Amino acid sequence: ARYAALMLRSVILAAARSQKVEHLVETAPISRDVVRRFVAGTGTADALAATRQLADAGLTITLDNLGEDTLTADQANATKEAYLELLAELGRAGLTGRAVPGEQTGEVTVATAEVSLKLSALGQAFDEQLAEKNAREICEAAAAIGTTVTLDMEDHTTTDSTLDILARLRRDHPGTGAVLQAYLRRTESDCRELATAGSRVRLCKGAYKEPEHVAYQAPLEVDKSYVRCMNILMAGEGYPMLATHDPRLIAIAQDRAKWFDRSPAEFEFQMLYGIRPDEQARLARAGHTVRVYVPYGTEWYGYLMRRLAERPANLTFFARALVSK
Ligand code: FAD
Repeated sequence: ARYAALMLRSVILAAARSQKVEHLVETAPISRDVVRRFVAGTGTADALAATRQLADAGLTITLDNLGEDTLTADQANATKEAYLELLAELGRAGLTGRAVPGEQTGEVTVATAEVSLKLSALGQAFDEQLAEKNAREICEAAAAIGTTVTLDMEDHTTTDSTLDILARLRRDHPGTGAVLQAYLRRTESDCRELATAGSRVRLCKGAYKEPEHVAYQAPLEVDKSYVRCMNILMAGEGYPMLATHDPRLIAIAQDRAKWFDRSPAEFEFQMLYGIRPDEQARLARAGHTVRVYVPYGTEWYGYLMRRLAERPANLTFFARALVSK
């Protein structure tokens, strides 16, 4: 892991020194492999190819068109168009949804492939209404082909805005998924709010560097919060989407599913593309729905660098994936 961390660090440092970062990283053989391990490619065709491969292996998919630092309406519009193009292709390829009536969950669409959105990429930072309008168009296009949208969660200054927009989108598209971050102190209460019939909620630890007054800092505190939040979601009526690579939390989730009498159709696991692929396959073979979060797009550089820069732990996180399964 240490060697891989060093390798990644040299990629980042080289990239930081270069004016033509993408070219540099694209042409260096090691770093190109590193990028390809975690990002499905730059265009819709690449995203579709990765989706088909994962679907053929019995996995489900959520696709993220990578966009960073959206500062203008034109950029936001371009991101929206990329999603509309992707959804049209998913529809044509038949890689979409089916409605599953769960005993506990109400009717939930568990799509073969759905999409994940960052509201910031749709304009949230400078025009919330525009971001909402863009997101709504994407939700409509998704509904038209029988699939769903999940709104990624970003740093804590956006949580209220994102949950408000989510609530409004859900009036017309109740299957729109939320993401809650266990490291935030508020999240147990948000879990209670969102654990309602038909509500899709992704629970993750949280990836941003957050201040102490809003977020638990110690990994053990975050893990304990994750378990409390998972208990609320598993006991509730919604459809929990447990996004973690943490073996301890995965084992606890399986245990809680038994305790709360949830069949594998009534919750899912989620992991990132390229991280613990063997574990993804193992859980799918055991009968679980496993959804792989697949980032693609020309802005892949931002995805990797942001993930790595946000928290020192993320460097280890990606480095670990290079040496273990
Ligand atoms: P970590 O604490 O990183 O790791 C715990 C344990 O898991 C490790 O000790 C190790 O045993 C195992 N492990 C972890 N990584 C590896 C690896 N690479 N190889 C082998 N074993 C490993 N964050 C947000 O803030 N907003 C979002 O919208 C969001 N969406 C996400 C969607 C998905 C599908 C996933 C999986 C994550 C998402 N995240 C999001 C990121 C998340 O918040 C965490 O930063 C990230 O998943 C790392 O946390 P972890 O639960 O995997 O555990």
